[in-house]
Amino acid sequence: MEHRKLTWAKKVPRHKIKKLYEQDAKGIYDEELVDDVGLSLYVRVDSMLMVTSSNLGKAVCIECRTEIPHNYNRNFLLKCSKCGWTILFGEFNDSYKKQTLHGYGALPELKNFYEKYPLAKTYAEKMFLIDWLIHTFHGNLHERPSRPTATNVIEGSNADVANLIFTLAYGEGSTVAAEELDKWLDKHKRSIHKHIDPSTGKNREILD
Ligand SMILES: [Zn+2]
Repeated sequence: MEHRKLTWAKKVPRHKIKKLYEQDAKGIYDEELVDDVGLSLYVRVDSMLMVTSSNLGKAVCIECRTEIPHNYNRNFLLKCSKCGWTILFGEFNDSYKKQTLHGYGALPELKNFYEKYPLAKTYAEKMFLIDWLIHTFHGNLHERPSRPTATNVIEGSNADVANLIFTLAYGEGSTVAAEELDKWLDKHKRSIHKHIDPSTGKNREILD
C-alpha cells in the first residue's frame, strides 16, 4: 500500500529553551528564537492532539484533518471520508508509539496552547504562552499531578527536563515570572516524577 510516510513533530532541544530564558532574563527579546521555540512547540502539540484523539478512538486524517473513528483493531482500515487517505490502524498506531505523544492527562492545557498560540502577536505574549505550557502537568490541577508536560515537548530524559526547568534563568529583564518555578516544583513533588531531584537532575533518596 502506497501512502505518505508518517512523521510526527519532534521535541524541542533543551539548549534552545535555555537560551530563550537566558536572553529574556537579560532583556534581550529575540523574536526569531521565540518564534522558533513557539512554533516547534505548536507543531509538537498538534501531533500530540492528533495522537491523543486516535488513542481515544478517533484517528485524524494527516492530509485534511477529518476525524476517522476506528475500533482499535490493527487490521481496521482507516479511510478518510473527505480525501480518501487510507492506512491500516495498526500501521498508523505503530507510527506514534513510544514517542511520548499521548496527552490525555494534559488535554485542556494542550488545547489551550494550540488555540491561543496562533493569536499571540508580541514577543511577550508568545513567551507567556511558552512559559505557561512548559510549567503545566498532566493532571495539572489535581492533588497528585502525573507527569510534567515539558517531558512531552522538550528533548531529554525526565531528569534532564526537570533539571532544565529548575535551571531556567530569570532576571531583571524577564518577561515571565520566576514564581512559576515554585509552583512547578510544588507540583513536581506531588507527581510521579517525585523521585527526581530537579536541582541535580538525579534521583533523590526517598526517606519515607
Ligand atoms: Zn483526509
